[in-house]
Amino acid sequence: MGPTDLEGFQEARDLLASADTVSVLSGAGVSAESGVPTFRGEDGLWKSYQPEQLATPHAFRRDSRLVWEWYDWRRGKIRECRPNPGHEALARFALGARDVRIVTQNVDGLHEEAARTVAGGSDADPAMPLELHGSIFRVKCTSCTYRVPHRDPIPTESFDDLPKCPVCGSLLRPDVVWFGESLDAGVLSEAFRVAQSAQVCLVVGTSALVHPAASVPLATRDGGGEIVEVNPTETPLTPLASVSLRGASGEVLPSLLDGLE
Ligand code: NAD
Ligand code: ZN
Repeated sequence: MGPTDLEGFQEARDLLASADTVSVLSGAGVSAESGVPTFRGEDGLWKSYQPEQLATPHAFRRDSRLVWEWYDWRRGKIRECRPNPGHEALARFALGARDVRIVTQNVDGLHEEAARTVAGGSDADPAMPLELHGSIFRVKCTSCTYRVPHRDPIPTESFDDLPKCPVCGSLLRPDVVWFGESLDAGVLSEAFRVAQSAQVCLVVGTSALVHPAASVPLATRDGGGEIVEVNPTETPLTPLASVSLRGASGEVLPSLLDGLE
């Protein structure tokens, strides 16, 4: 059985084919087939810490070296991962005739990498994602507004080795949203604006448990649009979706979006 045999496949395709504006909301599931470790499950564990113990402002204040060591480990894992056919199908879709915007909860940079690959280095703007939770490959200052892309390993042997801001000398931190922190207000309002005006919100690989990200598809419904979900398991959004395709995004998205570019 292939993805085209999934219950609701044709209905999902028809909805997307007739939409001029589409917002996409993606979560960790879209990167699962690329091998990015999830937060939930065995491969998310590091030295028996839970992410909830490390990805917080409190943890960083208490032991910034430990938190940076964990991030250096995650960055190393993610650096080895490449976009999968799901990321690539979304990037092609976003570069096509429709007005498509990808909103992601992922911090792994794989949508961006897919956009660059598919666009062949030309202007890839339409496929560039809005990153709700930031990027693990950017750092920012804990005191001033300094913020830069950064992919190389971080030295974490001692506190003195940790990266410091070239402008003000304060400690740098990963540019990701930690548990208990607010999302960037500009990015968030842009995500809701896009979703509100979309005819379809394509929700891929998110458990839809973490708000406000999980509310983005509701804005599409409030604006009169419909929700199409791609996820191997049921989520709190399933009852609100017009169609839920029960499959893996790397298998479903290439068929679902084929010819809709
Ligand atoms: P999540 O809460 O977004 O849930 C993952 C969802 O993906 C689940 O519903 C699961 O059924 C689904 N899924 C699994 N395999 C799939 C596949 N092949 N195709 C489609 N769907 C699939 O993810 P989480 O890991 O619980 O993370 C919560 C938050 O932690 C995220 O919002 C993010 O900010 C952060 N995080 C990011 C990454 C990343 O950047 N890749 C990884 C882990 C955690
Ligand atoms: Zn600074």
